[in-house]
Amino acid sequence: MSLLSVIVPCYNEEESVALFFEELTKNDPFFRDKGLELEVIYIDDGSKDRTVDEVKKLREKDNRVHLVSFSRNFGKEAAMYAGLEHSKGDYVVMMDADLQDPPSLLPEMISYIEQGYDSVATRRVSRKGEPPVRSFFARMFYRLMKKISKTEIMDGARDYRLMTRQMVDAILSMQEYNRFTKGIFGWVGFNTKWLEYENVERARGETKWNFWKLFIYSLDGITAFSTMPLMIASVVGVLFCLLAFAMIVFIIVRKMVFGDPVAGWPSMVCIMLFLSGVQFFCTGILGQYLAKTYMEVKRRPIYLVKEEI
Ligand code: UDP
Ligand code: MG
Repeated sequence: MSLLSVIVPCYNEEESVALFFEELTKNDPFFRDKGLELEVIYIDDGSKDRTVDEVKKLREKDNRVHLVSFSRNFGKEAAMYAGLEHSKGDYVVMMDADLQDPPSLLPEMISYIEQGYDSVATRRVSRKGEPPVRSFFARMFYRLMKKISKTEIMDGARDYRLMTRQMVDAILSMQEYNRFTKGIFGWVGFNTKWLEYENVERARGETKWNFWKLFIYSLDGITAFSTMPLMIASVVGVLFCLLAFAMIVFIIVRKMVFGDPVAGWPSMVCIMLFLSGVQFFCTGILGQYLAKTYMEVKRRPIYLVKEEI
């Protein structure tokens, strides 16, 4: 018998916990056929609703259910890491509680693992049901990442992914504090099969992400997997030096040839404002990386467990 661990990060998902388990266990006959035992690890990410009680209720009915409950909300990245740490399976799959990662795809995913892939990942090819502004910025983010990062990050990739133990251990060996799992998956490599599906809307409850949170998350992604912005700062600096030099030459020559007095303080003010803007922007970039380094150096734990069943 092999063991399949299912990791489910939950933040205020009281309505989804049981529904998810019901959907997942519709695959039970298939799992039995394949000689797969199941362990479902719900990671309660400091929920303020009855999520923990719901999981405990499930546990009473079915001892394949496990719970790891955080002392507060640490974020989905921390929850996924905790799930991987607590999983014992030969195969591990990460799924959202809201059924946006359809459990009906599991048999197909497992069949690819049997064919020798190390990991089966999913991406959605449509973004229906999502605000258009969000889709637009999401696309921009992936396009930008493709340009500035060496790590492959797929457009529309979900965290829904089945992995072998070997790949899980590789991911666990990356103990960085600033976690961006979509990048980490790409970074560790291994043979990955991509499955595509149409976006499924959330079954119950509400999304935990708003535009601002996603924006900050995308900046985390950029700083975690690219140092290109640091280079941009240097390049912009050099370009402006060259420009300034050319202008100095121009003004001196104009003065010597035509004797023009140098006029116009408004243009001067504009240039100064612009340049100090650029400087602040570049200092800001430096600050971002410094802040990440600062958090990394502190070596704080990625999450704290309050309760474990
Ligand atoms: N989630 C979490 N911690 C958080 C936010 C979200 O564990 O701080 C979980 C959430 O319960 C869900 C999954 O991450 O199972 C995906 O969240 P959500 O459905 O809100 O994101 P979306 O699908 O809208 O991108
Ligand atoms: Mg969702």
